[in-house]
Amino acid sequence: TPPEQIRNFCIIAHIDHGKSTLADRMLSITGIVSDREMRAQYLDRMDIERERGITIKSQAVRMPWSDGAGQTYALNMIDTPGHVDFTYEVSRSLAACEGAVLLVDAAQGIEAQTLANLYLALENDLTIIPVLNKIDLPAADPDKYAAEIANLIGGKPEDVLRVSGKTGMGVEELLDRIVERIPAPQGDADAPARAMIFDSVYDSYRGVVTYVRMIDGRLEPRERIQMMSTRATHDALEIGVSSPEPTPTKGLSVGEVGYLITGVKDVRLSKVGDTVTNQRRPATKALAGYVDPKPMVFSGVYPIDGSDYPELREALDKLKLSDASLQYEPETSVALGFGFRCGFLGLLHLEIVTERLSREFGLDLITTAPSVTYEVTTDNNQHVTVTNPSEYPDGRVATVSEPIVKVGILLPKDYVGTVMELCQSRRGTLLGMEYLSEDRVELRYTMPLGEIVFDFFDHLKSRTQGYASLDYEPAGQQEADLVKVDILLQGEKVDAFSSIVHRDKAYAYGTLMTERLRKLIPRQQFEVPIQAAIGARIIARETIRAIRKDVLAKCYGGDISRKRKLLEKQKEGKKRMKMVGRVEVPQEAFIAALSGD
Ligand code: GDP
Ligand code: MG
Repeated sequence: TPPEQIRNFCIIAHIDHGKSTLADRMLSITGIVSDREMRAQYLDRMDIERERGITIKSQAVRMPWSDGAGQTYALNMIDTPGHVDFTYEVSRSLAACEGAVLLVDAAQGIEAQTLANLYLALENDLTIIPVLNKIDLPAADPDKYAAEIANLIGGKPEDVLRVSGKTGMGVEELLDRIVERIPAPQGDADAPARAMIFDSVYDSYRGVVTYVRMIDGRLEPRERIQMMSTRATHDALEIGVSSPEPTPTKGLSVGEVGYLITGVKDVRLSKVGDTVTNQRRPATKALAGYVDPKPMVFSGVYPIDGSDYPELREALDKLKLSDASLQYEPETSVALGFGFRCGFLGLLHLEIVTERLSREFGLDLITTAPSVTYEVTTDNNQHVTVTNPSEYPDGRVATVSEPIVKVGILLPKDYVGTVMELCQSRRGTLLGMEYLSEDRVELRYTMPLGEIVFDFFDHLKSRTQGYASLDYEPAGQQEADLVKVDILLQGEKVDAFSSIVHRDKAYAYGTLMTERLRKLIPRQQFEVPIQAAIGARIIARETIRAIRKDVLAKCYGGDISRKRKLLEKQKEGKKRMKMVGRVEVPQEAFIAALSGD
């Protein structure tokens, strides 16, 4: 297809504003999926996505559309992940497009993710087509939100299209407008090939499927292609377009969007953001914008049953094939045994990975409290990166810095006070406050990421009855007065409970954890002190009183088989205990203590 007849676009929307439903509707209106084949959310392929109703991985699909004059166009719709954890992937998907449909729920208005992705789209110079969705809803207030959108991006409220992905109302007009407004792609057809990878997916049958947008030149099957970041070369076994099922083609030219299959089995060999060129006639300059995504959140992942360790390793090795941003290395914990320290892009990523581990691989796991990356300079001027609090070089710390993020929160104005209070308590610094409309406000803060990974979102939601939405982006490292708080059972450190916190919050953290553990750990035959400490200094203490747990006393004179049963029962109970020094700690205590409040 010549570039003049191509339109590349994405849909940016907050979760639940109807992106998947609208995408499905477009597939049926353009006729590439028949009504018979249509199942809800055709494009959301992963099970977890479907169940949770969120889009994790982007996909691209090509649809034909004719304008009023009978000219046919190829519309490439690139599905972007909506969640903040995947900002980099979103930015690459946007870079593959010339335009974006800004989709807003007509009963909800703009939310934080809409705004964050809109800013990304504007940075990429995309043409924005504003659209209100779900106008079939009785609660829809399109006039109000059209004004809000016009206020935000300029233009007139009347220019905001009104559609319903559910009923199909307005969707044809939207497709016409995409053809009309979004510029055709431009590029040099005669230059050496340059294609940008915007997604890379592992498929157990076909190996890695790499989604690309051709910028210059042309790629054809059976050529030898090269990844510009690593210089690695592969054979292009198949090149094609998804429409929506994969369909091989004779090649991809300027402006086209499609996939490559090279037979590689590991997505790390085909990284999002990288540039693909032709080995025989390589481009000299890679496309701008490539970075290796860095994990932001770390957590220890341990099998509940220690003998599952080899299975856990195997499962992580397999997941890694389809998830280039997942990192892990072996780690041992006094309390939890053998496991892995894993690095994730964010909390949702962590949740997805642990859910896949238990669902797809049937593993029962304990995940330790999430930690961020601390950069420490020691008193003898050594530099240490700490992703596990138990490795914090206590007592030898000269300076320590923690990751900071820029946070955007959208909320109804009535909740501004309570949310500001929450942000303050999480060491936030207010950057600004804007009214989006009469009653909706955007608050902008900088905040330590470590304060957000610890149940910030839950608190935000409960304080605003679910009305606030949140987005954030990394904003570098910043020095802070941090200390490590250890938890000791009978004088023994329990590494899984160590945490790095701000000095002002150390006392509260210590008190919370010791109280929690006193309730969770059963009495033993001796007294067990539970202490919280900064270095050698004890900052909180609780005691579990001794008990002589004589189970036989109860059946004094009773029959012998009943006694035996009781003894066996007690033995069984012991199996699920972990020994910390002399203290028996039930597995559940670890899980409960680590699961936040
Ligand atoms: P996404 O998270 O943006 O992909 O949103 P979905 O497409 O999964 O839709 C979220 C919810 O809104 C689902 O329950 C849909 O059935 C519903 N929904 C989507 N579009 C419409 C619409 O146009 N009208 C109505 N009434 N509901 C819609
Ligand atoms: Mg969706």
